[in-house]
Amino acid sequence: MELESRNFKRLYKRQINNQTLRANLSKATLQAVGNRAESFREIDFEFLRERAKQVKQEAISNLNGYLSQYQDAAQRNGCKFFFAQSAETARAYVLGLALKHNVRTIVKSKSMVTEEIEVVPFLMRHGIETIETDLGEYIVQLAGEKPSHITTPAIHKSRDEIAALFHDKLGSAVNSDPKFLTAEARRVLREKFLSADMGISGANFLVAETGDAVIVENEGNARLSTSAVRLHVIVTGIEKVIPKFSDLRVFMRLLARSSTGQKLTSYISIIRGPRRESEKDGPEEVHVVLVDNGRSSLLGTEYQEVLHCIRCGACLNVCPVYRNIGGHAYGSVYPGPIGSLVTPLYFGEKHSPDLPFASSLCGNCTEVCPVGIEIHHHLLSLRRDIVNINHSKRERFLFKSYRKAVLRPGRYELFGSVARVLSKFGLLNSVMKGWTTTRELPVFPKQSFREIYRSDKEFLNLPAGRRAHY
Ligand code: SF4
Repeated sequence: MELESRNFKRLYKRQINNQTLRANLSKATLQAVGNRAESFREIDFEFLRERAKQVKQEAISNLNGYLSQYQDAAQRNGCKFFFAQSAETARAYVLGLALKHNVRTIVKSKSMVTEEIEVVPFLMRHGIETIETDLGEYIVQLAGEKPSHITTPAIHKSRDEIAALFHDKLGSAVNSDPKFLTAEARRVLREKFLSADMGISGANFLVAETGDAVIVENEGNARLSTSAVRLHVIVTGIEKVIPKFSDLRVFMRLLARSSTGQKLTSYISIIRGPRRESEKDGPEEVHVVLVDNGRSSLLGTEYQEVLHCIRCGACLNVCPVYRNIGGHAYGSVYPGPIGSLVTPLYFGEKHSPDLPFASSLCGNCTEVCPVGIEIHHHLLSLRRDIVNINHSKRERFLFKSYRKAVLRPGRYELFGSVARVLSKFGLLNSVMKGWTTTRELPVFPKQSFREIYRSDKEFLNLPAGRRAHY
């Protein structure tokens, strides 16, 4: 994945000054937060969260076992299986399939993993028309942008902006009524569904026990992308596996509520394999591409539970940083608090050293996470790791000196005296440059506490018992 996240400082400055963007984000995220809170009133969130956490812990702690169980079951159901260690191998497999079957047009439903491996631009470069069919994804594809949210890709756009985009790209009348805009998108996409040879989808869950791939959605486009084509390819991450079919009961109650505040999404598709003889529709072939792309490097580490994420997007909606800068500022397909973890953990800390610092550590994200990931604690740990990797020699020298100083009273005093002299001549700010860009240094007093203490003869001459009452 091409990462821009190393440019976070430049990207967020551009976004934070965009008042329209901030207004759009604020409106949409506040509504999602309100809907979520309302929907959880009627069920025991803490109980379900604990249960979901247990299921995910079981699945991820025994990932190899559950993956091979899933693979066996999926193959018994007639699916073909490919394990992709990297984005390149996943893309090459999908392209190979498309070329083998003379595919001209592909319809694709929403999937973060396909964004991650950038399969759409790759297929387009090879002359295969690949259309996003989720409305939000379709909007950002038309705009030539990337999604700015995990579940609502076009959250940064207002209705008027979308109307202008449709006018420009589709020749539609300028009308920002959501019904009109949806009908326009449907008009174009129906044609694509009817002419497509291949469908690509993700999967929200893979059930090891039965070999099922489960997709939740609201628009019906995923169902069409997976059933109205002769070839269906599921591209998803290895961490999506859960042990049992009955585990879905827990996740189905948590996922939609956390994401949009719905009790359930409008569609839940459970895909077991290709069309059977007795069935009238469905693809002739179903391929499952399981993508690792850095995920397995988290196994056995303190960050393993990051793999529990079910991509509900709730942590983005409550994050004060995300709400002010939006998803594009993160320079990664995974924005917000979970993106600030996933991006450096999957693709390497060196590529995104600033992301774990893009958090106020308020803990809102951890509080709403339906699988109980300690997001802000992990962000703090990643900061530690990144500091260990990336700190300059100057910073290391300063912190080492500070450590030495505070451990010895004499040195501490000397350190304080030097700081007071630098402060007096206005030099301390330049020594602390970086830290003082966004913070103010306190004004140093003329005398340190120790100096005042030593000069207070009256106090020092008091008997020890009376000093306590001084
Ligand atoms: S980290 Fe938790 S809250 Fe954030 S997207 Fe993942 S499951 Fe949802």
